Amino acid sequence: MDITLVRGDITEQRADAIVNAANSSLMGGGGVDGAIHRRGGPEILEECRRLRASRYGGGLPTGQAVATTAGRLPARWVIHTVGPVHSRSEDRSELLASCYRESLRVADSLGATSVAFPAISAGLYGWPMDDAARIAVETVRQAETAVERVTFVLFDAKAHAAFEARL
Ligand code: ADP
Repeated sequence: MDITLVRGDITEQRADAIVNAANSSLMGGGGVDGAIHRRGGPEILEECRRLRASRYGGGLPTGQAVATTAGRLPARWVIHTVGPVHSRSEDRSELLASCYRESLRVADSLGATSVAFPAISAGLYGWPMDDAARIAVETVRQAETAVERVTFVLFDAKAHAAFEARL
């Protein structure tokens, strides 16, 4: 697997699938989630609504992933995954690792061979960037997947430096 780093906006990526750091409601939010729905248009939210009605009435559980259309984005699919909120009292690393593994599993089920990830949980959900980068890189490297190309799309210099150090 080829792993690359890009500094920029994940909504501009041409990968087969881009991953959304969603919240469990699947109804949109801030950060990456807000950007994806803003630029991707209403089709994505409509499909999220249908998923809520059919399979995820109680919300998408933390660490799981599900795909929708990418609407007007250049990617083909958006894979929504719910990262864990960082906690000082409890180790939630396994849930964060699960987001990467489950997203790649969904990508495999779609036949997607290129996937772009943001730094899941490292924004509003408060995960320290260095640790988020460690878990992201380790998990993707160890994943059993047919995905050939993973791009981590980092929004700012600090995130990019943290991922570069891990890679
Ligand atoms: P979470 O709620 O899982 O923490 P956020 O979307 O708040 O997710 O943030 C995750 C990371 O994505 C943060 O490092 C944030 O700076 C970054 N980010 C925000 N918007 C974008 C974007 N459009 N493209 C790529 N990364 C983004």
